[in-house]
Amino acid sequence: MTLTPLQELAKSLHNCQRCKLSTLGRSQVVFGVGNPHASIMFVGEAPGANEDLKGEPFVGAAGKILNDLLTSANLSRDQIYIANVIKCRPPDNRDPEQDEVDTCKPFLMQQIQMIRPKLVCTLGNWATQTLLERKVGITKVKAQAFYMKDFVLFPLLHPAAALHQGNLMDTLKADFKKLKEFLDKNTKPAEPSDTASPAAPTLQIDPPNQAQMDLFG
Ligand code: URA
Repeated sequence: MTLTPLQELAKSLHNCQRCKLSTLGRSQVVFGVGNPHASIMFVGEAPGANEDLKGEPFVGAAGKILNDLLTSANLSRDQIYIANVIKCRPPDNRDPEQDEVDTCKPFLMQQIQMIRPKLVCTLGNWATQTLLERKVGITKVKAQAFYMKDFVLFPLLHPAAALHQGNLMDTLKADFKKLKEFLDKNTKPAEPSDTASPAAPTLQIDPPNQAQMDLFG
């Protein structure tokens, strides 16, 4: 059976030894899951203990919160694709180190190139700073659209933030409401010929206006 380029990439990383995380207790590489034709992709930081065991991103406590937030934005996990910046669990869930990000980022970029999402929602500081290529705090940039060359970036707080600070749950809910508004505004009804594609919603994002271009002014 011929593999798709995305499946080839996953296979090539199966036993990845490119960085020290391969020797620091990971059980497996957590490549990513979801719809390979998704128009919306979510990017987290790195697998935690549950993800490391199951081989899938966001299957633990933060994943439960993410599922509820996705539902609130009318999204389901089979419509989207989810991956992390770092594909292996850092020991004790410590923050990724720069050499680990530098080693793994090209594979995230290849996933994005192969899936070709129109919208990439980054979850938390690490994913946001990695894709924006700027050291900006998530609270400053969250819940707004950044028009990148090949996709629109929509940073969001990491769902795990609500596990540590319960009061952030309301902020997360409000930010996912803004995501839903953005999707509603930029989603066109599917053409009859699109119905065979499971990649709904049919996102068609209008070009940015001047204010959106000037966000970093
Ligand atoms: N946190 C992440 O950033 N990614 C996961 O897959 C799980 C928790």
